[in-house]
Amino acid sequence: TAAPRRARLRALRAEDTIYALSSGRGVAGVAVVRVSGPLAAPALERLTGKKPPEVRRASLRSLRAPGTGELLDEALVLRFEAPKSFTGEDVVELHCHGGRATVDGVLEALDGVEGLRAAERGEFTRRAYAAGKLGLTEVEGLADLLMATTPTQRRQALAQAGGALEKRYESWRSTLRSCRARAEALVDFGDDVEGDLSAEEGSKARTEMDSQLNALIGELRRALTDGYRGEAIREGVRVVLAGAPNAGKSSLLNALAQRDAAIISDVPGTTRDVLEVSLPLGGLPCVLFDTAGLRDASDVIEREGVRRARNVVEGSHVVVFVVDAAKIDEGADAAALEAVGGALSADPRPELVICANKMDLVEKDALPRRRAALVDAAPAAIAPLVAAAPLVAATSLDEAGVAALAADLEARVAARFREAGDEYEAPAITRERHRGHVERCRAGLERILADPYLEPELVAEELRAATDDLGAVVGAVDTEAVLDVLFADFCIGK
Ligand code: GDP
Repeated sequence: TAAPRRARLRALRAEDTIYALSSGRGVAGVAVVRVSGPLAAPALERLTGKKPPEVRRASLRSLRAPGTGELLDEALVLRFEAPKSFTGEDVVELHCHGGRATVDGVLEALDGVEGLRAAERGEFTRRAYAAGKLGLTEVEGLADLLMATTPTQRRQALAQAGGALEKRYESWRSTLRSCRARAEALVDFGDDVEGDLSAEEGSKARTEMDSQLNALIGELRRALTDGYRGEAIREGVRVVLAGAPNAGKSSLLNALAQRDAAIISDVPGTTRDVLEVSLPLGGLPCVLFDTAGLRDASDVIEREGVRRARNVVEGSHVVVFVVDAAKIDEGADAAALEAVGGALSADPRPELVICANKMDLVEKDALPRRRAALVDAAPAAIAPLVAAAPLVAATSLDEAGVAALAADLEARVAARFREAGDEYEAPAITRERHRGHVERCRAGLERILADPYLEPELVAEELRAATDDLGAVVGAVDTEAVLDVLFADFCIGK
């Protein structure tokens, strides 16, 4: 359905005047209905029976149904004139009372005005983008801002919506442009049979370009190795509870969740085996996963559950490996450790925390023996990790029993989000989409540096591709597909 909708949007885009409820649905003090397009002001005139108010001046007006003249609401109205508006078009905002019937009445009235139609999902923002009011990363930032649930998420989204990423990528792009100019000079030099440009000058141009590239690669590398900070802030740090069946993973999840009044939800499609809870830890976003017991399951459904559990472990930032402190079962430990072994050896690998649960059943001095048994059961490749991992005691029977675990996780999440210095520096990469392009750009530039004798034409070609990759992040190339995905997530009225 994406293609026809795109075609429809394109066909309708420019001339249509669109309207939608831009505030949330439900009972509220105020609801904001937004109208954008050439007929915005005339539509306002239709509903109020008066000349539209001065631009950017709030005025109280009676809104009436165009057909019957029935009074619908007394509303505060605002008018913006193209191009100085969010969409870059003429815009009218109706700040009505927030009741359902009022909103429905006003929307219906707008529908009755000829030339107006209801907005598509994200269409206001799409118009803002088309008008050059927002860049691609700014649109993404705006989308993130609407979804932000914690202060760190808000901070990052606001910076991105305000152009922080755009600026960073533009500065990288401008470095590449200057490198390309030097590379072009080298290509010309190669063609220059008269030899106006001396060999010495040629190698100087290459040296200068290399030093610029070196500095840029350094920055790209720093952005790529920031511990996935930007993505983690957007999506939450992924913490997985793993371990043998009956170690108490689900109970721990519940205890942690209750403590933080989290929202428990099933991951669509994985209802049976992976449970996901979003909970802020110290004001930071965190997603906690409970997995099916990791063991060699014989029946098919259980095997599928274990496979999914492994996938979750592989994509996680922190693995909490839960053991029953009161019971040593080397076979069960070994099977569960075997299952997380791959993820723990990956690069970058998640942090490992061992949680000894059911501490209400044993004395504290049983812990060293429990850890030793676990290390013995561990596959050789991860035994050192298991031996060195922090060990946290817990009991999931009450809130106090998980306090130490919660504090440990909080500290870990905080460490991941810690900002360098006092100044907030927006991460350069906040989505996998950005990461892919930056990674490709870096690889291309490294290929140039690796070969000082690379043909100038090939240097120029690598630089062009690298520039395109950074361009794709800010929407300078290939944006349609990205936009379709992005706007599908937007709400109507945004
Ligand atoms: P999971 O299979 O790892 O998710 O384990 P569950 O959370 O389902 O717990 C398995 C069993 O251990 C249940 O009967 C729980 O009531 C019990 N259990 C879990 N945590 C504790 C604990 O801290 N202390 C005690 N005594 N029992 C626990």
